Amino acid sequence: MSLALRFRRRFSMAHRLTSGAAAKCATPHGHDEHVTVELVAAQPIALDGEANMVAEFGQAKGRWHRFVDERLDHGLQLSASDPLLAIARERFPEWRLIVTPGDPTTELLAALLAAKCQAILDDELGGALRVRRVILDETPTNAVVFEGDPREVLPAGDGWWWRPDESTS
Ligand SMILES: [Zn+2]
Repeated sequence: MSLALRFRRRFSMAHRLTSGAAAKCATPHGHDEHVTVELVAAQPIALDGEANMVAEFGQAKGRWHRFVDERLDHGLQLSASDPLLAIARERFPEWRLIVTPGDPTTELLAALLAAKCQAILDDELGGALRVRRVILDETPTNAVVFEGDPREVLPAGDGWWWRPDESTS
């Protein structure tokens, strides 16, 4: 038996891919994406005949969707090693930048967002909910599904994806 909560949010983004990508992918461009997170209770929870819920929906998704709306939406995703990053920081400090370890592919973003969502939930709900799956729809027909522990695929250290704040670089 398992009960999951699922939230979906739309956002627009821009990025470019520099490593071995086709020229059109190296040109800054954008996608309208959806991020879906599935959450499960860290401990088995019985529907108790009273509250009958895994967690309060609003509490579970409020901060997460604020992060998506205010930091991810209309953000420019750039690799930490992209020469555009220094130009953007110097000339356009007001831009929303999402700085990634290597090219900001959909695969990487799915793992980064799984880590970020878990950090926010841990801070908000004290570890009551676990991120089981993140689905990142890059186009209406292409999606990446991330399941498992992001620590297995992401760099350790103090990256923004491990922090429960609104940082993205
Ligand atoms: Zn793209």
